Amino acid sequence: MQPQIILLKEGTEASQGRSQIISNINACQAIVDCVRTTLGPRGMDKLMVEAQGKATISNDGATIMKLLDVVHPAAKTLVDIAKSQDAEVGDGTTSVVILAGEFLKQMKPFVEEGVHSQIIIRGVRKATQLAVQFINEIAVKPKKDDEAELRQLLEKCAATAMGSKLINQQKDFFSRMVVDAVMMLDELLPLNMIGIKKVPGGALEDTLLVAGVAFKKTFSYAGFEMQPKQYTNPKIALLNIELELKAERDNAEIRLENVEEYQKVVDAEWTILYDKLEKLHLSGAKVVLSKLPIGDVATQYFADRDMFCAGRVPEEDLKRTMKACGGSILTTVADLGDSVLGTCEHFEERQIGGDRFNIFTGCPQAKTCTIIIRGGAEQFMEETERSLHDAIMIVRRAKKNDAVVAGGGAIEMELSKHLRDISRTIAGKEQMLISAIARALEVIPRQLCDNAGFDSTNILNKLRQKHAQGNRWMGVDILNEDVADNMEKCVWEPSLVKINALSAASEATCLILSVDETIKNPKSGEGPAPQGRPGARRPF
Ligand code: ADP
Ligand code: MG
Repeated sequence: MQPQIILLKEGTEASQGRSQIISNINACQAIVDCVRTTLGPRGMDKLMVEAQGKATISNDGATIMKLLDVVHPAAKTLVDIAKSQDAEVGDGTTSVVILAGEFLKQMKPFVEEGVHSQIIIRGVRKATQLAVQFINEIAVKPKKDDEAELRQLLEKCAATAMGSKLINQQKDFFSRMVVDAVMMLDELLPLNMIGIKKVPGGALEDTLLVAGVAFKKTFSYAGFEMQPKQYTNPKIALLNIELELKAERDNAEIRLENVEEYQKVVDAEWTILYDKLEKLHLSGAKVVLSKLPIGDVATQYFADRDMFCAGRVPEEDLKRTMKACGGSILTTVADLGDSVLGTCEHFEERQIGGDRFNIFTGCPQAKTCTIIIRGGAEQFMEETERSLHDAIMIVRRAKKNDAVVAGGGAIEMELSKHLRDISRTIAGKEQMLISAIARALEVIPRQLCDNAGFDSTNILNKLRQKHAQGNRWMGVDILNEDVADNMEKCVWEPSLVKINALSAASEATCLILSVDETIKNPKSGEGPAPQGRPGARRPF
């Protein structure tokens, strides 16, 4: 008798072969269809409701993909590339998903006809390589030393990034603000040095940029109102200490014989607290911030001595203050020298909308700034924050690497033409593959048209003709349902966004094409009950 060979655990699902690749491609297509309509200035937004009922409105590809909660293992790749695009360049997250989907769609017939995956993958890689090379060749680089020109370039890129968002009406206002914000940073352009705060109320145009650290006034006790709210060149103490009389812990037990002893215990508590407060006062600090609570006694003490305090400051804000104003976050007040105290040129507490803000400006150490977003609905402000994040990322990228290309499908059409031209010079299967990728690139202008309600076939025909005549930057003109030179129209995007999107999309395509077998382990306890032992307890 032949012994039975069991390779995989019972209940394991395994599917393989060509049909497996096709089914993975189909799954990806379904994902792409979800985000397809959000592309471009006329794209629609999505409202996503999570399990707990939290609603998010967004146009940002990465946000949508994150919230989609995809379970299909292959389709998850698309979520990953959207996330990586978001982390790497910040914008182009919808484009990257749509491109990957279209690459796969164009490769599907080849898979169906039995072309080997490895050949297809080689073709896709080659096409991507050619495309990236070509983008680098034709990208426009402004003169670096010209300050005004650079600024204009950055503003244009920021405006294009925000052009497709909810806030596109105010994109000029915001692009100036975003460029100002990024210009305030130091050379490394650290993203976390731009704080973004949201205050409900007011109009979107009331959004303001503070050249320094700002955070919402924290919870305060009586006595706070007597504290001064404005200083010039104050010393700032940053603490991780509780300045409060401690309530007795549940598990503490003190046995006392008489009233005097009780009084001593109480006195000791006060002495400890007053000792800390006195040290802070003597150090010359005018502003005391703590991550932990500052109680009413301390608040009153500081008020009597013309000092300002704020307890329960969020850690992130405290850290930013430390980086900006210098000093260190202290866990003891034993050694309060000038070296551990921060300082800034100006501190004040200001009313913004319904909230009061603590604002530190003229910070000597790191260059930092805070954007305070105003607006109506919470969801609207959240989307504004995401859009600003996109724009800030783009400006940072463009500042580091200032080559730009024209958006609105112009660069994609030019790439498409370039690849098609090259494919004709190649003999062999790669010819078909490269020209298929060329066709796939047209999806961006087509989708831009579809989303705006234009006749996409008509516009694409016009674009193909213009590009064949050598009009390199012809793209979709969203305002006039026509084609236009998008370089002149100032629809500019950093070339890096496009390069990254192309590479990521092609990587995802290759990955999905190279998977020809999925093996799914059954979850413990979920597989079919072990046979032959009815009623036996299932193992975990
Ligand atoms: P992504 O998440 O990929 O950035 P968007 O919804 O921001 O998606 O859309 C970006 C696309 O819209 C890009 O292809 C860009 O070139 C195009 N686009 C942006 N502004 C304009 C405009 N004013 N005219 C035409 N196309 C534009
Ligand atoms: Mg965008």
